[in-house]
Amino acid sequence: MERRDFLKVMGVSLATAASGALPQTFLDVAHASSVNAITRLPESDTARFAWTVDDGCSPDAVKAYINFVADNYLRLTFFVYAGVSPWQTQRKLLKPLVESGQIQLANHTMRHPLLTKLTTKQVQKELMDCHNFMERNYGIDAKPYYRPPYGGINAAVIDAAADIGYTKPMLWSGTLGDSGNIGSAKFMTLANRGMRDHGIVLGHANNMVAPNHFDRLLEIVNSRGLSTVTLTDAFGE
Ligand SMILES: [Zn+2]
Repeated sequence: MERRDFLKVMGVSLATAASGALPQTFLDVAHASSVNAITRLPESDTARFAWTVDDGCSPDAVKAYINFVADNYLRLTFFVYAGVSPWQTQRKLLKPLVESGQIQLANHTMRHPLLTKLTTKQVQKELMDCHNFMERNYGIDAKPYYRPPYGGINAAVIDAAADIGYTKPMLWSGTLGDSGNIGSAKFMTLANRGMRDHGIVLGHANNMVAPNHFDRLLEIVNSRGLSTVTLTDAFGE
């Protein structure tokens, strides 16, 4: 993407977020090579990957994911963007799965900003506002896992987060490309590429693209003999 277009899209989504409406456009941008963020699972005896789902702008998608996980004995991690409503409206459905450990909640900030543009104090406030929301609504301590919005991370962000106990910055090894709308063929190509042993797969609960393909995603998981794990399953804390 051209820088000009990148800024345009970013401007739109940040402005929308600030107004309290659901942002329509998200980017998959990562700069993992230059910093110490985590993009893969550690070695294990079984073939497995972490299915991680960000944001939660669509109540229908959040609900569909919860039912999908429950019905198919999957394990999944939501990176909660606490500023959007489904994390409150779907709480009754979600909380039992969080309590059983089948679904893990991790930190994706309160307002979904680009953390690299913020001061240390602002980064910490973004994480702690989301942290406190999850503690209040789900009774959990979400540390140490967080994912920076847009994958925007640098050493200053990592240090600011680590100082308050968020010591595991999580990026991804493969993306489903569904932060905004994406065509079916492209989506399935990305899913086939991303769902692999040791993988950390990034999806989004912002639209119904993934739910509309759940059967086909499950087919990939099963045909490859993969199991799904939460971050706590994989990293042991
Ligand atoms: Zn996000």
